[in-house]
Amino acid sequence: MQRNTRGAAARPADVDVVVVGAGFAGLYLLHKLRGLGFSVRVLEAASDVGGTWYWNRYPGARCDIPTTDYTFGFDPALEQAWRWSEKYATQPEILRYAQFVAEFYDLRRDIDFDTRVEAALWDEADGRWHLRTSTDEHIRCRFTIMATGCLSQPKAPEITGADRFQGATYLTSRWPQGGVDFTGKRVAVIGTGSSGIQSIPIIARQASQLTVFQRTPNFSIPAGNGPVREERLAPLRADRAAYRQAARLSRAGVPLEPTQVYGRYSPPEVRAERFEAAWQTGELIPILSVFADQILFKDANEIVCEKVREKIRAVVHDPETAEALSPRDHAFGTKRPCLDTGYYATFNLPHVRLVDLRKTPIERITEGGIALSGGESLTFDAIVYATGFDAMTGALVAVDITGRDGLTLKDKWAPGPSTYLGLMSRGFPNLFTITGPGSPSVLSNMMVSIEQHVEWVADCLAALRAQGHTRIEPTAAAEAGWVQHANDCADITLYPSANSWYMGANVPGKPRVFLPYVGGVDAYRRACDEVVARDYLGFERS
Ligand code: FAD
Repeated sequence: MQRNTRGAAARPADVDVVVVGAGFAGLYLLHKLRGLGFSVRVLEAASDVGGTWYWNRYPGARCDIPTTDYTFGFDPALEQAWRWSEKYATQPEILRYAQFVAEFYDLRRDIDFDTRVEAALWDEADGRWHLRTSTDEHIRCRFTIMATGCLSQPKAPEITGADRFQGATYLTSRWPQGGVDFTGKRVAVIGTGSSGIQSIPIIARQASQLTVFQRTPNFSIPAGNGPVREERLAPLRADRAAYRQAARLSRAGVPLEPTQVYGRYSPPEVRAERFEAAWQTGELIPILSVFADQILFKDANEIVCEKVREKIRAVVHDPETAEALSPRDHAFGTKRPCLDTGYYATFNLPHVRLVDLRKTPIERITEGGIALSGGESLTFDAIVYATGFDAMTGALVAVDITGRDGLTLKDKWAPGPSTYLGLMSRGFPNLFTITGPGSPSVLSNMMVSIEQHVEWVADCLAALRAQGHTRIEPTAAAEAGWVQHANDCADITLYPSANSWYMGANVPGKPRVFLPYVGGVDAYRRACDEVVARDYLGFERS
């Protein structure tokens, strides 16, 4: 593998654009901006490309959007050159894909690895950003693009005594490169979000005892992994360009027709038939859209909830465990549902135990294990924290970003993030966010949303240059209008009713705000395109 081995002195300290992050967003940005003739540096905290797929090496890590769709679609030559091996690729395969993309476009030579951006300061007189890195470099650039990821800032486990445990501890999102062998070990897994649900069945195969600590159960559907389904491959093979275009103009970045069938007005046999058909696809978008009204009305949503609970009861032998695994505190889809391979059946194994933390909270972590509130003390060799992320805003406010007039992003966003189109925030000229809060981002197939943002930002920089402008910033009115619109869209759905990471509810002290834009990839793209067509409506340029 080629790494960037140039000395710091050889790298330009003054460039047109700095991109922060070398996940899929950073990689495409570099390719795109280079092609437009901008000087670009990419700064990446990790030791290689891949972002999410570099860090999340836990057992069972896979994508949950099929690889027919979770792939770059901007270049037919790239698509021709790569073949996915299955419907849901594993983390190592997706990481290899990111590395392949980097090699395909010779990207690594402009990426500094092991380099974290710690601070970014806007110099109004200079009209530039001044960045400080963990390698003590100062870089000056006209534009800064934060491609820092929506799910890249791990949420630290906040359990009393966590630092006292003498055994091994692992964070799913910072998994050791060489993997972990749990053979014969007594293992605790804390957390039953997607990472927990993907890793638990695999850890159970090795561990001598596995105890799963669950605060809130999540809905999960069987992935049915294997070869890519023919009915998904056929349209892609028949007309690749039309398939990708349909994805761009779809609700969630996957070209599936939205249904017009309402659950609340459907007879039981139609409900059952539609649910079962969606269940059998083993895909998120179909199960999230069994009925047109399921994310709008509780009664329609409850039809789907109860059918998933029936599935859980059919698999899990012990009724008490089945009930504990059955979500009743949130509507289906208001937290991202999970895809699994054998998750519920794992709880039938004699050496696997579920601890329901709503009934028996953890009192503290001890030197030897975990003490529960009822007085029970459990001994472990290893604790796995599958505790998730400070989503969407975490990685952005982790950088000390100071904009115009000394305003910091952290302070501005303390009551909740405020952006225009999820792309820029007033007070921070020339600073863009890829898949930022206020854009469809985590509610969509992120490859499609990343491509759309990268292309919009690249076109914007090219347009500024062509018009002789050096600076862009949203107006206060445009930003306020977008925030209001995004909130209005969320408020007509059930999304805000859940204590989800979409709402920031998993991070103590984080304001309760619905973070992504729920209006759909299609409507969002139209809004972004219209802003450009109307000569960057809502932006000030100079
Ligand atoms: P990331 O991949 O998160 O990359 C951001 C990069 O920025 C990281 O490498 C990070 O190290 C770097 N960085 C952050 N801050 C700094 C800093 N201050 N200085 C320097 N570098 C910094 N999405 C889907 O659409 N479908 C899926 O199936 C799917 N599965 C997922 C599974 C898991 C386990 C996770 C965690 C996420 C999944 N996602 C999925 C979301 C996923 O994050 C995106 O699909 C996509 O990979 C994001 O790419 P990105 O480049 O925007 O961000």
